[in-house]
Amino acid sequence: MLDGQGRTIDYLRISLTDRCNLRCLYCIPGEAPCWLPQERLLTGGELLRIVKLLVQMGIRDIRLTGGEPLCREDIATLAGHITSLEGVRRVCLTTNGVLLAQKLPKLLEAGISGVNLSLNALERDCYREIAGRDLWEKAWEGFQAAVSCGDRLTVKVNVVPMRGRNEDQLIPLAGLAARRPVHVRFIEMMPVGRGAFVEGLREEEVMKKLTEAFGPMESCAGPKGSGPAIYRRPKGFCGSIGWISALSHKFCDRCSRIRLTADGWLKTCLQYEAGLNLAERIRRGDSDDQLKSAIAEAIRKKPACHAFESGQENNGWETRPMSGIGG
Ligand code: SAM
Repeated sequence: MLDGQGRTIDYLRISLTDRCNLRCLYCIPGEAPCWLPQERLLTGGELLRIVKLLVQMGIRDIRLTGGEPLCREDIATLAGHITSLEGVRRVCLTTNGVLLAQKLPKLLEAGISGVNLSLNALERDCYREIAGRDLWEKAWEGFQAAVSCGDRLTVKVNVVPMRGRNEDQLIPLAGLAARRPVHVRFIEMMPVGRGAFVEGLREEEVMKKLTEAFGPMESCAGPKGSGPAIYRRPKGFCGSIGWISALSHKFCDRCSRIRLTADGWLKTCLQYEAGLNLAERIRRGDSDDQLKSAIAEAIRKKPACHAFESGQENNGWETRPMSGIGG
């Protein structure tokens, strides 16, 4: 499946729910989030129908995200159906890890092959201040459960470096990859939703801190399904350090992804609203062929690149929070 720029589109991120059990200050701060009403969410049947069509059209790698995907009760059943679709290469999960230890056995049975676990601090108070919940132990339990799966599961840790929030945690977090085969990735804060109001650290600044702590890093191959991340390895490390630097090292020319929101919007670029309301089309009775041709048209019009760096709001920019998009 090619878009209008000639890029191959073979990666789908599905937001299974906009709900989350954390209140991260850059994503869903505060105590009274405004969740999507239940009837707006795609049912399991609608979701699987869309995924099946997208796989027929060329999607190969799928990531289940949210909100917090493990808050969706039917996640293991959905994952099992998705992994068994002909043409699907890999199905992975992005999670905050809080419910992971208890749900992992069923997810492995369903055929999940990788987990990206978001962990912005190794120190409990710092974690609570960022995540809005005192759940560090649960997230850590999830991380340990994932690592204990060995070769059955690729484990990546997602860290968003924030000025004055977790700067002193970055070296210990990177150190998780020293003796474990995990990939710790530093994600530049993107001005999406509340992220626009929290200052992140750029790649160069984080790199400088890590190089001072661990010495120079060599480029290395990333784990399978590594997407836009660039990987490097300090000497003697078992795992690697990854960089997802959408602002300082834009990678739109390599973008292969589309997103499906929990309410059935096929989203073709993180920054823009551009895309297609598949839920509405399904509910009005469109046939598979009609859906496929609308999807192909939306993908043809996928924006060439983001313009986060312009800093100027523009018509057509996404207004949903990251939790509703599937970050
Ligand atoms: N609840 C899951 C989790 O915490 O991983 C999945 C959803 S969360 C939106 C996915 C990832 O997006 C997390 O690693 C989170 O830290 C990251 N994220 C959220 N808002 C962001 C922003 N504005 N810029 C960069 N990353 C962001």
